[in-house]
Amino acid sequence: MTQWEHLTALELGRAIARGEVTIPEVTQGALERIAREDQVYHSYLTVTGEQAMDRAHRLQAQLAKGVGPLYGVPMGLKDNLCTRGVPTTCASKLLEGFCPPYNATVVERLEAAGGVSLGKLNMDEFAMGSTSETSHFGPVRNPWDTQRVAGGSSGGAAAAVAAGLGWYAIGSDTGGSIRQPAAYCGVTGIKPTYGSVSRYGLVAYASSLDQVGPLGRDAADCAAVLEVLQGWDRRDATSVERTYGPLLSQLNQPLNGLRIGLPAQCFPPELDGQTARCVRQAAQVLKERGARIVEVSLPGLEYAVAAYYILASAEASSNLARYDGVKYGWRAEGTQSLEELYCRTRTQGFGLEAKRRMLLGAFVLSSGHYEDYYRTALRARAVIDQGFRQAFGQCDVLLTPVTPAAAPRLGESLSNPLEMYQGDLYTVPVNLAGLPALSMPCGLDGEGLPLGAQLIAPRFEEGVLLRVAHAFQQDTAYHKVQRRGGLEG
Ligand code: GLN
Repeated sequence: MTQWEHLTALELGRAIARGEVTIPEVTQGALERIAREDQVYHSYLTVTGEQAMDRAHRLQAQLAKGVGPLYGVPMGLKDNLCTRGVPTTCASKLLEGFCPPYNATVVERLEAAGGVSLGKLNMDEFAMGSTSETSHFGPVRNPWDTQRVAGGSSGGAAAAVAAGLGWYAIGSDTGGSIRQPAAYCGVTGIKPTYGSVSRYGLVAYASSLDQVGPLGRDAADCAAVLEVLQGWDRRDATSVERTYGPLLSQLNQPLNGLRIGLPAQCFPPELDGQTARCVRQAAQVLKERGARIVEVSLPGLEYAVAAYYILASAEASSNLARYDGVKYGWRAEGTQSLEELYCRTRTQGFGLEAKRRMLLGAFVLSSGHYEDYYRTALRARAVIDQGFRQAFGQCDVLLTPVTPAAAPRLGESLSNPLEMYQGDLYTVPVNLAGLPALSMPCGLDGEGLPLGAQLIAPRFEEGVLLRVAHAFQQDTAYHKVQRRGGLEG
């Protein structure tokens, strides 16, 4: 075993640029670790070993002075990002065998930056879930405790980074899918402002909420990856044309005078004491760094989960209508008519959670219920947006928990979907308002499992989020604590 797996992506990038280690060497090492360890975690659905080694050799041969900070650094991609000629299944039986003929824009951008993909990461089916247990190919296990979930839906991405099976990973976040698994697995993740990262080639779940973003070992790694991902893309009509400032070079700016708001609504009396304590302690650390802590109000929060599940399901029912057995992936055999082909393919191809969402979505959009549910949810979305605007009148950044508690045991959440949905209360409001938010490790619970703190900023203020998280990580070591149960013991 080498020392390289302990480095951050940026540290490894520097070692590669200086010639201290070669790209094929670290890629080979990562592939061997995946072969050895991932049978337990199941963070990868497809490992593209041969392609990764070919690419590593090519990049090594082209290594020159002045390459970008992530040049040659191996990573993984969530399996809802289209990769040319490589299976892209969204962890669904329905897309088994589907190999897109093109790359997602983010994949192209990472390639241009010298990224080396190790493969495609496990997730909840079509990104619907909070535990990565709805994957058709079996659940992801949390590297800290293999009896626990890794979170979802980017559970494979978070577990791979936590277990050292890739130096960073690309996930997607519709209602918390980057931040929540990052919190459960003790890694850092950022959901960017809606429209700042291209969704072209991201398989759609709920198009008005979906956003692609990085998970990494620390805020600096996330800043480096996000710098590559961000930017206008003419192939995504919701992509925002603007100049995106540098993130990495701003990381060390002081926090003096920055107002950090603690929303009273995010710390109700029934919140788990350990979670509340860890997040409040994080506020204290930031105060010592020069930030000002202010109590703020975030009205509308109580509507977020209901509004989110109505809108996300409505959009999902429309987005998933395209899987009919004709164009993509898997198809039911031996059907007699077109209708039977559609019906049997969808009945047998989709899992329970995807079906639940599509039925709920079709219901809230139906003519008898549209006004009561869909329109009401849209109004609630506007109220939540307004609540954030009001809060940002009093502070620059909000600090909240990511989840009510640490990772649950496998199987616990699936038996009670409503409770699982309620657990998304801190993450979904952010997507409804299109804001950027970051999840960083901020402590361990009584059983030694990681807990996360969430930072939320106004649109396009990713730089502030990363700066605050970076300052926090300069003074704390939670992001460096090694997982239990892995090779490092
Ligand atoms: N848990 C939420 C859901 O199931 C969020 C998922 C996501 O962000 N993709 O919809």
